[in-house]
Amino acid sequence: MNEPHAAVVAEEFVALYGREPEGVWQAPGRINLIGEHTDYNDGFVLPVALPHAARVAVARRDDGVVRVHSSQGDGDVAEFTVDSLAPGSVAGWAAYPAGALWVLREDGHAVPGIDLHLDSDVPFGAGLSSSAALQCAVLLACDDLLGLGIERPRLARLAQRAENDYVGAPVGVMDQTASLCCAEGAALFLDTRDMSQRQVPLDLAAAGLVLLVVDTRVEHGHADGAYRHRREGCERSADLLGVKALRDVEAAGPELNALLARLPEPELRRLTRHVVTENERVLEAVRLLDDGRLRALGPVLTAGHASQRDDFAISCPQSDTAVDAALVAGALGARQTGGGFGGCVIVLTEPARVPGITAAIAAAYAARDGWNAPAFFTATPAPGARRLR
Ligand code: ADP
Ligand code: MG
Repeated sequence: MNEPHAAVVAEEFVALYGREPEGVWQAPGRINLIGEHTDYNDGFVLPVALPHAARVAVARRDDGVVRVHSSQGDGDVAEFTVDSLAPGSVAGWAAYPAGALWVLREDGHAVPGIDLHLDSDVPFGAGLSSSAALQCAVLLACDDLLGLGIERPRLARLAQRAENDYVGAPVGVMDQTASLCCAEGAALFLDTRDMSQRQVPLDLAAAGLVLLVVDTRVEHGHADGAYRHRREGCERSADLLGVKALRDVEAAGPELNALLARLPEPELRRLTRHVVTENERVLEAVRLLDDGRLRALGPVLTAGHASQRDDFAISCPQSDTAVDAALVAGALGARQTGGGFGGCVIVLTEPARVPGITAAIAAAYAARDGWNAPAFFTATPAPGARRLR
């Protein structure tokens, strides 16, 4: 199914650069079932790769020049040299491929110039991780072409470093690991502390269920202050509680309340409560998937949304409206997925309820002034990054 994509990307490469690419690689976007903002707290996440992917055709050059072009860009070919790469040296979307080359050089590898053409069907800024898809596709292509043999969890860490230190977005490591390490038909249970991971089978059809993805059409902005502010709040809370990361707080109920009371600001208490309860929700979700109790996942998702909305304060009216409308229309559970402030909502439901749910959400949006119409698709767990040709 991906071969036609690969052929198109390769043809476009030839039209742009007047020669054949050495190969075509793709890396997927993702949804996260549960475990939001836990990844920079050394915690647990449970992402699923999507069929939507970034595809890159690449060929090496021997003059140290890098040329990059995106079908979703402004039409221009951005050009720079490997030698001149330093954090922030390339602006705009080309910062992502530039960051990938920079981080490989920082990691001690001899990085040549390249010609690169990108085509992606992961929507930008929709919380489906188009940035990690792009960066992981470039890193995998380079790893392969240069014969570096970097293991995927480490490649994910390099991709994170490129996004943190080159692009300047303070993201955790979930998106990159999801893109590189997910497997078809499974969710990836990842411990971001030590990068240990396990594929947890997710056979939605066998359980008579689907995951409906609702694009709220509200674009988030990761690099903005709100994400950073929360990350810093989590780090301060961990310091104040005397733990390495909030992952180390395992208390629940009255014990958790007593711990939270030690934090001096209400906001720090709320941030901490989200991370601690969210880690527990990931573990609960994994137990349910292991037991084949997929329907019981619904309330866990919905509780995760309430925690994002009330404690971590990363939801928005469009996400809340989609979640509420889905639940009223009979969904088993729903939550905003991704970094927050819009993006996508995932809905767990029976297939027969999908038309009613999409109609209810569309109607709720249409009733509001200035809201974009939502978009919908169903998610099928797709494979992680790979070479297409
Ligand atoms: P998300 O990763 O949730 O989609 P981000 O803000 O992290 O949102 O990343 C989106 C950015 O990634 C875009 O603004 C653009 O710079 C870059 N990007 C992603 N895919 C492409 C593409 N196909 N072409 C050009 N730039 C892209
Ligand atoms: Mg991103």
